[in-house]
Amino acid sequence: MKGEQDRRRLLEPYIEMLSFWGESIEDYLFILDVKEQQIYFASCIWEKYSLPFEGISFNIEELLSIVDIRDRKRVELNFKDIEMGEKDQLTLEYRMVDRTGKSSWVYFVGKCVSYENEKPSIIVGSISENAVSKRIDQLTGLRNQTVLEKSFLEIFEKKKSGYFLIFGIDDFKNVNDKYGRNYGNEQLKRLAEIIEQNIGYEGQIYRLDGDKFGVNLIGYGIESVKAFYNIVKVAFSVQTDCAVSAGAVRYPDDAKEYHRLYQYAEDALKHAKRHGKNRLFFFSIDEYKEHLFFIDLREELFESIKNSFEGFHIYYQPVVRNEDGILVKAEALMRWKSKQYGEIGPEVFIPILEQTGMILDAGKWILEKAMQQCYIWRKIIPYFRMNINLSYIQLKDKKILDIIFHALDKTQLPGEAIILEVTESIQLQDYSYFNLLFYQLSKRGVEVSIDDFGTGYSSLGYLKELSVDEIKIDKCFVRQIQNGEYNFRLIKNMIELAHSVNIRVCVEGVETVEERFVLKELFPDVIQGYYFGRPESPDQFEKKFLERAKQGKPIVDDSKRKIHIENKKLLEKNKQNYKRLLDELDEIIYVCDTKTHELYYINKIGKKLTGAYEYTGKKCYEIFQSGTEPCKDCKDTNSANGMFCVKIRKKENTDICFLIREKTILWNEKPARLGVATDILEENVSKNFLEKEK
Ligand code: C2E
Ligand code: CA
Ligand code: CA
Repeated sequence: MKGEQDRRRLLEPYIEMLSFWGESIEDYLFILDVKEQQIYFASCIWEKYSLPFEGISFNIEELLSIVDIRDRKRVELNFKDIEMGEKDQLTLEYRMVDRTGKSSWVYFVGKCVSYENEKPSIIVGSISENAVSKRIDQLTGLRNQTVLEKSFLEIFEKKKSGYFLIFGIDDFKNVNDKYGRNYGNEQLKRLAEIIEQNIGYEGQIYRLDGDKFGVNLIGYGIESVKAFYNIVKVAFSVQTDCAVSAGAVRYPDDAKEYHRLYQYAEDALKHAKRHGKNRLFFFSIDEYKEHLFFIDLREELFESIKNSFEGFHIYYQPVVRNEDGILVKAEALMRWKSKQYGEIGPEVFIPILEQTGMILDAGKWILEKAMQQCYIWRKIIPYFRMNINLSYIQLKDKKILDIIFHALDKTQLPGEAIILEVTESIQLQDYSYFNLLFYQLSKRGVEVSIDDFGTGYSSLGYLKELSVDEIKIDKCFVRQIQNGEYNFRLIKNMIELAHSVNIRVCVEGVETVEERFVLKELFPDVIQGYYFGRPESPDQFEKKFLERAKQGKPIVDDSKRKIHIENKKLLEKNKQNYKRLLDELDEIIYVCDTKTHELYYINKIGKKLTGAYEYTGKKCYEIFQSGTEPCKDCKDTNSANGMFCVKIRKKENTDICFLIREKTILWNEKPARLGVATDILEENVSKNFLEKEK
């Protein structure tokens, strides 16, 4: 009893002050007796809110009963913190339900004015309805962005972690346009409800602009965020038939400041929408930086082009003839130096030029510049030609023919001097359009080459459908061609196929001596790659490559390039494969030097029939004729014209008769006689043929 009186005495001055102020203030002023868990109000809060009896004091449980169920747990926990002495002041926003059942936000603020045993004993404060009204969204009853910003101040200060999400209804504008604003509003309310139902008492939801909601998931990990999003997504699509996307940012790891956090979440949402909608996208700081980098580049490229292509220049890479390595043309490759970032690779800036349409101007620029250069170099090497890349965007430009022909006129270059490279892509399948375009180019002598051949869509089909002059087999097929059967066969087939329909072949990306040697035997027309030379500035190109061509010398003297022993073994391995194949034939295959008559090679059946198992260093006439001097066939030069010459020879003192076909080929860089001898019985040979031969 005494304790109760003491307590009353302690509270008295505050209650007096309360009643004085309470009359002049709209807010509900209160005193919270922490120890007794009683709350005293100065004004008639019970008139509006359903408190159990009209009096001035209620216990905390009673106060909690008018707190909206969605916020009750959070409020309760905060009161508990005060009771346990873990907090001595409170600022809370929560909803209270009035006597009509309407739920409205209030702002609760309280501060400790008296302690007992170092714990709060009396808290004085107010509950305000007006303080929050400006911060509440009328449609959904949710708090708005101003509250969100404030709440994050506290979150960062308290070093809490979690995820911030922005939800956006997909195609909301269409929903509004198609079904009207009321319908759209209903969707917004549904989404808000679904999020709230699943958010948990620690989660917070805010209405942002338009169709967006901010959701703060304090303490969540990535998997819980995904699960949360999926629940909302499914529920929303079931209930409304609409889709919702979200962008999520992890704090404080990815952002330690509200405005940045918000911007990142918006960016992640945009990303989710751009990549198919109806999905959640997690913000990544690396991707974001990359994104900013691209925006910078785009702006700078635009400025560069405006300022007469400032920073743009062209490098030229040599292309050589396969058979002798002599320079025949160059590929013009665009380069660009950014003021901010330095030299930028074409694989980075060309796609930006393409996406923005700036490639039309840049493409026109390189056409003219490269033609001018070609004109100059043709004065030194009259047959010199220039390969120039054309983007698909340029090809589709209605004015492309005019642009090309105008550039030719302006530079006085004949059409034959240029070859336009177009990248193999699915778009090229509009055969009739492109064939007409290529036909018009061909009328002026301009040739067309299919770049990166083999990497695109149904490559081989192209050769049948598109009338082009050259293919450039992509570098990915060249890599390690001396080791892999697969690429070797692929390139071989591509070359044979192209040649069978009269299309020239360039193999690009030749880097090593091994690749060069293996390719040489497959007879592409021209080759290009670092082995011969990297793209160079015009000055360097002249010094390094043009000078040698002027003297009729190959760019790289292959004969001086000795293959390392281990690589030689690899090449040998490849040869072994051929030999194994030749050993399977019934015909005798042999190769001998046209001058020294040394036998270089004979296959298995040849060895068997002649007994020449050890033929190294022996002459062909010793093996085939058992002679000591070159025979009539050894001196026969009929096989030197590149065609097979045919003859029939009978082996002395036997019935064995051979049909022999011989031709001169290059064997290890030397002229050699390739022979194919078929064993035919004498009686099968027509008398006439024998007569004719004589
Ligand atoms: P691309 O047309 O396939 O050009 C060949 C690319 O391969 C060049 O790269 C060249 O430097 C590189 N290359 C040449 N030989 C070798 C080699 O032995 N090994 C390796 N690994 N690479 C080699 P670059 O200059 O970086 O050009 C890249 C791409 O940018 C070009 O590929 C082309 O698609 C595009 N590009 C360059 N200039 C232009 C242009 O003026 N217009 C258009 N539309 N695209 C261009
Ligand atoms: Ca090219
Ligand atoms: Ca290429």
